[in-house]
Amino acid sequence: MNSIFSARHCPASKGIRGSIPRSVSDETSERGGVCPLALGRQPIFEETGGLRRPAQKPLTLPRAGSRLLGWWCVVCLVMGRTLGTAEAQQPPVSGRFAIAIHGGAGDELDNITEEERKVHRKSLAAALEVGRKIVAEGGKAMDAVEQTIRVLEDDPLFNAGRGAVFNAAGTHELDASVMDGSTGQGGAVAGVTTVKNPISLARLVMTETPHVLLTGAGAEKFADAMRDRKQIERVPNTYFSTELRRLEWEKEKKAQAAKSHRGTVGCVVCDQHGNLAAGTSTGGLTNKMMGRVGDSPILGAGTYANNATCAVSCTGTGEYYIRNSIAFHVSALMAYKGLSLDDATQHVIQKVLPNDIGGVIAVDGMGNISMRFNTSGMARASIDSSGKVVIELGK
Ligand code: ASP
Repeated sequence: MNSIFSARHCPASKGIRGSIPRSVSDETSERGGVCPLALGRQPIFEETGGLRRPAQKPLTLPRAGSRLLGWWCVVCLVMGRTLGTAEAQQPPVSGRFAIAIHGGAGDELDNITEEERKVHRKSLAAALEVGRKIVAEGGKAMDAVEQTIRVLEDDPLFNAGRGAVFNAAGTHELDASVMDGSTGQGGAVAGVTTVKNPISLARLVMTETPHVLLTGAGAEKFADAMRDRKQIERVPNTYFSTELRRLEWEKEKKAQAAKSHRGTVGCVVCDQHGNLAAGTSTGGLTNKMMGRVGDSPILGAGTYANNATCAVSCTGTGEYYIRNSIAFHVSALMAYKGLSLDDATQHVIQKVLPNDIGGVIAVDGMGNISMRFNTSGMARASIDSSGKVVIELGK
């Protein structure tokens, strides 16, 4: 932690959060728990049509309230310094980490050749290595999630970024989300058509706006505003097309179906600081209706992270995941029923979701990993600090 002030020491982020201006409390949590009031500053951002710019004039608090907050902040300062010293004496990292990724669930994986299996495994291994390196060097779970998913988005093998499925109109609409278990913050985009790496735009929604989910034209406009960021690149919609996806679409159109869902990608990470993060990115279902949004950009459905429980990323027919809040469901089973990570993922896969719908990957703060599915296969890979590696496609 960079600062001695954390959200848990600051009243602005706890009991009286609702009584202070929104921009103050939001800034508190978006800055990883640093309390602007404790630092004696006025909020430095105010909301301006979704984006943020430096506040023109200080936002005012009622007098009695501000005096009370002033005292609280003195208390925060003293407690923060005390605890900050204690924290400084603790080892900065646990040495324990875990990372898991998926590349989609479905029976499509049954029909691929041995050669294609090898290619799949190689792609999963390459992406996993990017995340592993970040956390092994003491980096942040959220950075590992974003960078790992960018690799999977750039790989035409997966249904995310390049290689995204075709919708019923013969174009591509992409969804992605991230969630940071250390702050409870999340960001998502849905229905984007020109953003090369939607996962990075989702992260910017989390860090640069007061919102959680931006869709369609609004999300593209936000990408325009973020164009100076090197991680935001725009591409023509045809960039996402591959021959394989076109053939799949032709088949699905003939069958008048929208169910194939090979290759959505996701990543969950527990870093050496004990922080959890999750992300998911997809082109959705082949031949989906225009405007259809699945579970992948919905926090609690396709993606969820909470340091107190787990980080989860889902893949499968999104409508089931949305209706059953699957990602949050896993966390809730751990928090309220005391289930272990693996018991919780098994429960949602076997008891909550119908058979042959999809899978979930999850990690907890102890570095445990669970990867469960009820389809005949799920492309998946994981590694932890003990060096245990898993790279599998089938059961
Ligand atoms: N869950 C994604 C969706 O419904 C698809 C998938 O995971 O394959 O959009």
